[in-house]
Amino acid sequence: ENFYDQTASAPETPFDVALRPPDFDEFTGQTRVKERLMLMVEAARQRGDTLDHVLLCGPPGLGKTTLAHIIATAVGSRLHSTSGPQIERAGDLAGLLTNLQEKDILFIDEIHRLHPNVEEYLYPAMEDFRLDIIIDQGPKARTIRLDLPPFTLVGATTRAGMLTAPMRGRFGIPNRLDYYTPEELQHILMRSGKLLNVNIEPGGAKEIARRSRGTPRIANHLLRWVRDFAQVRAQNIITEPVADAALTMLEIDNDGLDEMDKRILDALINKFGGGPVGLNSIAVAVHEDATTLEDMHEPYLVMQGHLKRTPRGRVAMPSAYKKLGLPVPPNLLS
Ligand code: ATP
Repeated sequence: ENFYDQTASAPETPFDVALRPPDFDEFTGQTRVKERLMLMVEAARQRGDTLDHVLLCGPPGLGKTTLAHIIATAVGSRLHSTSGPQIERAGDLAGLLTNLQEKDILFIDEIHRLHPNVEEYLYPAMEDFRLDIIIDQGPKARTIRLDLPPFTLVGATTRAGMLTAPMRGRFGIPNRLDYYTPEELQHILMRSGKLLNVNIEPGGAKEIARRSRGTPRIANHLLRWVRDFAQVRAQNIITEPVADAALTMLEIDNDGLDEMDKRILDALINKFGGGPVGLNSIAVAVHEDATTLEDMHEPYLVMQGHLKRTPRGRVAMPSAYKKLGLPVPPNLLS
């Protein structure tokens, strides 16, 4: 199992669902986003209004789907879940929208991948809660207008930059999710341990947290592996050394970089002289899809200071050389 192959479109496992915090109180971290959403929910509730549309952005696995569920619970409505690529035709969208009840939440994951034709139909639906459907073709073509119940669209995207301007304009301020701190992840892991009936010491949780690339989904998946390891090799108790041994066995190093991350840095330095080089060239060199690199690996490498994005391409930073045990080129040592 590849623990990092949790792309935005990865199906949710029962495990993900079981560990999902049910409300804002149990949702750790992302304080600013959380406070803003709670305020919006409260304001809408006081006015008896439908909640405004919400845009959530950030790397996969940080809790966008979880927040959509929490929002639905908070407003006391049903959640209808879909994703951009799943809505192939305007008819699919019409089906979804006409199924909604007042104040329902429509969650569209990967909203930046909506088909342009579908997007056009979504605009009036978001703005005026109406749907203009064209029926028939040629001279007989006419439009039928359907009134929709007021609903809330919660859109999630790994790439806020790839949203079209009209789409972005129909949301309020985007809610940007950040990588979690090790302390927050430790807290999440202790909670998961309790839910899964796993004996985990704070030191064990801390060790897993440190190596989870700031991502709860990864932390929970690593916990599952460490639990197996502890069961077979360590009397079922996850201590710090047990977590360390288990993660080392997965070749996850002490700051969470996995094999693919290191292959990226290796290619950047050894094949492309440290850059600048385009993302697609790196993707070809490491046999990985460019989108996966850009969504999953690059943001974390950038955050860790190993890699920089420049207008001319990706550049290796001194810490990347150190990570691979290579001398830092003099021109980078200014
Ligand atoms: P995607 O964009 O792929 O849907 P996501 O950002 O929506 O990813 P989620 O599915 O919401 O990620 O979360 C992944 C897992 O991490 C879930 O199992 C959830 O329980 C857990 N999780 C996410 N955020 C938190 C949090 N703040 N506190 C506790 N657990 C969390």
